[in-house]
Amino acid sequence: MSQFLQFECNLDTFITQLQEKLTNNEQTIEKLLEIKNKTYANFVKPLEMMEEYLEHFFTPLSHLNAVNNSEVTQKVYSESLPIITEYSTKLSQNLEIYTAYKTINANEKTTLNAQQQRVLELNIQNFELSGAHLDTQTKAKLQTINIKLSELSNDFSQNLLNATNAFEYIIENAADVEGLPSSDIQAAAFEEDGITKYKFTLQMPSYISYMTYGKNAKIRETLYKAYVTRAPENAKIIDDILRLKSEMSQLLGFDNYAQYSLASKMAKDEESVISFLEKLINNSQLQAQNELKELQAVADKAIQSFDSAYYSEILKKEQYDIDEEEYRPYFEQTSVVNGMFDFLDKLFSIQFQKIDEILWDSKASAYDVYVEDKLTARLYLDLEARESKRGGAWMHNWQAHCTDEKGEEQLASAFVVCNFPASTPENPSLLRHDDVVTLFHEMGHAIHHLLSSVNENEVSGVNGVEWDAVEFPSQFLENFAYEPKVLQLFAVHHKTKEVIPDSMIEKLVKSKNFLSAMGMLRQLEFSLFDFKLHSQLYQGEGVQALLNDIRKETALIKTPDYNKFQNGFAHIFGGGYAAGYYSYKWAEVLSADTFYAVVDEGVFHSNTAKKYRDIVLNGGGSQSMKVLFEELMGREANINQLLRLNGIH
Ligand SMILES: [Zn+2]
Repeated sequence: MSQFLQFECNLDTFITQLQEKLTNNEQTIEKLLEIKNKTYANFVKPLEMMEEYLEHFFTPLSHLNAVNNSEVTQKVYSESLPIITEYSTKLSQNLEIYTAYKTINANEKTTLNAQQQRVLELNIQNFELSGAHLDTQTKAKLQTINIKLSELSNDFSQNLLNATNAFEYIIENAADVEGLPSSDIQAAAFEEDGITKYKFTLQMPSYISYMTYGKNAKIRETLYKAYVTRAPENAKIIDDILRLKSEMSQLLGFDNYAQYSLASKMAKDEESVISFLEKLINNSQLQAQNELKELQAVADKAIQSFDSAYYSEILKKEQYDIDEEEYRPYFEQTSVVNGMFDFLDKLFSIQFQKIDEILWDSKASAYDVYVEDKLTARLYLDLEARESKRGGAWMHNWQAHCTDEKGEEQLASAFVVCNFPASTPENPSLLRHDDVVTLFHEMGHAIHHLLSSVNENEVSGVNGVEWDAVEFPSQFLENFAYEPKVLQLFAVHHKTKEVIPDSMIEKLVKSKNFLSAMGMLRQLEFSLFDFKLHSQLYQGEGVQALLNDIRKETALIKTPDYNKFQNGFAHIFGGGYAAGYYSYKWAEVLSADTFYAVVDEGVFHSNTAKKYRDIVLNGGGSQSMKVLFEELMGREANINQLLRLNGIH
């Protein structure tokens, strides 16, 4: 019998099958709750596996909808969403399950293994972060706050979208669009009264194009001012959101929202996050000032906020102009993929064996993954763009490594999806270097899931990994796409068979680190502002005052007073990043630190690489990444390696 599921999804019967499964699950839950002496083995394990099997059934549909999208997949998918949401909401609010977890945790604390304890701990935490343990009155209050918060966040995004769409700037003088890429000029051009005019908006890529290439500083200023003054009505919404988040956190027993956010993250307290960000700021300032001097040198006037993208582009062209077309012939898709497998084998002793299997598209492929010759997992690759595929790149986990309720081992599987140029019988698919980086990134996520040796699926592979650590394995692997020893394995000209010259690799690294300290300070400004803003209650002018205060350390070019960046900070007010924006940098430090440990040991045959496989990849979400990381390195993460990675000295 195959260890792996066959990829299949019957769209005609999907909804009926889904409903049957959910009804069965609900009956199973009722029966499980009737058990008198609930234990991990008779209650938690069957519940855990029930959810795993539901994932097995549901993932092929969401996958198909993303990679072979059609009217039928859309219809079935959108029909299934409310059904599955209703089911999971009911499950997450079932207090009998919460009570059962608590009892089992108390009864079996000393006999359960660490993985099982982690499953209980995370489940109990999930219930408690939504207030399951509180009295009815408080719960009702929390519910009202949550509804209000989701309305406010929706209004915030809507206001921003309306403001973005409401603005346009028409250029009539062709000289003002000189220097823009011709595709951008074409996109902006329209005819009116027999004259060609050019329309720019605040939408990407229109806005960014003019800010980067547009010669006319007056126009850049007008666009910039329009951009940073969007949605002034959001200021009031920010106050409301901050107040409600603070109230919610206090009802749940936290001093502030930052504490609430950290409860489920790797960073242990507010002080660790703030001092981490401040250290990076201090270490980047000097180089950022030097970068600004360099930038100033190519400008004919004192650089202002609306000039920096424009002069950066000029300086970049002058210093490291990368011609993608020169690189592409070195990155032929098949040779990149095989080279990456070869690299993973050299680094971690994992082998990939292509297998014949009928999949959703003839361009997709399946591989059995062996670790030191033992069959461990299955990987699906679907790398080429096609009309029916959603844009971007991602890893989607399917099966998780675990032992099932009968004690049998289940192996893991995952999909890696990209949008690389399609190959034809005449023309190979030639990638940009960015695509290679993307592939490494997604493979970093994939092996994090596939190489798990954890026996509890809820904390196996990427399941149960803290939010501020999820990008650690992907960024770690991505860094190797700039490493000469690794690139030389596969970056071979597809016609001349010549290996990519060192000078070309050097240019890639330099261009990656172009104005990196200024870029770092900008990200740190967002991170610190977000985090401090949620560490105590700020209202009205206090929000701006906090931002101004942070900018004293992070903004080298004076920000105009009219700039109300916060009203457009959709990540935290319209999305899920509140008190979590720091996570990007947090995970980058872990990945840079581990990366250099491997590089400094000569990359291949690195002992740290093997330990990384055995501790971080095998460990998945079974322990906090803090524990895994410190076991790997024997110490806390070192920010200096992130500075080194960014070329900041
Ligand atoms: Zn990622």
